[in-house]
Amino acid sequence: MAYKITDECISCGACAGGCPVEAISEGDEHYVIDADACIDCGACAGGCPVEAIVAE
Ligand code: SF4
Ligand code: SF4
Repeated sequence: MAYKITDECISCGACAGGCPVEAISEGDEHYVIDADACIDCGACAGGCPVEAIVAE
């Protein structure tokens, strides 16, 4: 399991700096999470203003 960023993302960038393993980066359409790097800490999810980060 890993966290995922949905199409709801408005690319505000707020989540990227808070990831302890730097798994979040700016993708082509919106920010994306590297599922292999994500350690499922959940730190990013609560800080997203549009709730675009979900556990899958
Ligand atoms: Fe990074 Fe934690 Fe979010 Fe995974 S759940 S992308 S490790 S902040
Ligand atoms: Fe996208 Fe939410 Fe991250 Fe902002 S905090 S870049 S809206 S996923």
